[in-house]
Amino acid sequence: MNKTDSERIASDLENQGFLPAENWDSCNKLIINTCSVRKRAEDRVRAFIHKVVKHYHDLGQPKPLIVLTGCMIHHSAEKLRKMEPDIDQVLDISEVGFEIPAKRTDKKHAFIPISTGCNSYCTYCIVPYARGREKSRSLDEILAEATSLAKKGYSEITLLGQNVNSWGLEKVGVSLRKMLLHDKNFTREKLPSNQSQYLKPKGIPPFVKLLQEISKINGVNLIRFISANPWDFHDELIDEICANPKIDRYVHLTVQSGSNSVLSRMNRGYSKEDYLSIINKLKKGDPSITFGTDLIVGFPGETDVEFQETVELAKEVSWQVGFVNKYSPRPGTVADKLYKDDVPDRVKHERWHILDKIINQPHMQHRPKVV
Ligand code: SF4
Repeated sequence: MNKTDSERIASDLENQGFLPAENWDSCNKLIINTCSVRKRAEDRVRAFIHKVVKHYHDLGQPKPLIVLTGCMIHHSAEKLRKMEPDIDQVLDISEVGFEIPAKRTDKKHAFIPISTGCNSYCTYCIVPYARGREKSRSLDEILAEATSLAKKGYSEITLLGQNVNSWGLEKVGVSLRKMLLHDKNFTREKLPSNQSQYLKPKGIPPFVKLLQEISKINGVNLIRFISANPWDFHDELIDEICANPKIDRYVHLTVQSGSNSVLSRMNRGYSKEDYLSIINKLKKGDPSITFGTDLIVGFPGETDVEFQETVELAKEVSWQVGFVNKYSPRPGTVADKLYKDDVPDRVKHERWHILDKIINQPHMQHRPKVV
């Protein structure tokens, strides 16, 4: 998501008359597109700002105008400037609209954002606060962009969204934000049993229709999508993936944990059994399909038994790639409010190592291309 946002920011700046700099050490304006998934990502941004300021100071030159964008702006502009007084501006990425054409460097593969924001409020995640509510782009706009890219020679397309497969669905209308953040008496017992935040579609789900329409475009030969979430992974989508040769045979489907009790504390909208059912239907529909996932270890209260359930799931699914993250509390999230970060770092590290060894190391030589 950040890559595609950066492509539009670059294009917007060029329209304003800026030229791309060779590097950060010789520029007038520096836009830092940030990630907030873990505290470490934010620490790295702050260390980078210090490095930039020191570099220009040592040269005796004025530092560039430093602009921060991306998920770190979930801290208010005021708080960010207090944290790092060298930040000059904060840019809300929604100000750089989808109508701005991306400045792409790759000539064969292109990212197309199809939605932005998220309504799911997984308890650990900052995205709904940083990027706001989920909004889908129109079918016409997406098809126009894909057609124009195909005419320019792009044959591979990756559709992007925080919940890419809920594109175009009608909202249930529950205001989780209100419930989770503004209810002073909120307790973990009030955590909704999360499901999709969208009504079950009647007929073919919009995302499946979108895949079918993009597949009709001459010149588009490979379609990927990310991030797909299990709660809107309807059977029609499974059938489309299995039947449509233009869709990549690698499916990235986030699970986060193999333990139902942890999934419930995370406010994910599915059980381990729901997840396995999707995987097994896909495997049955096309045995050549491979899978990847994202996992969090050391979520608050994760016991050895709960972790072992994730280990068992990893053995059962045989993911080709697993992006394993050690839990880190993000201020402002429900998990930070409700749970104590009580799994010691040493245990998080051991669990990370165990999953990495099971999932990633056997495939190091034969990893599928993940963009
Ligand atoms: S689905 Fe959950 S993890 Fe993904 S962006 Fe939304 S809140 Fe975050």
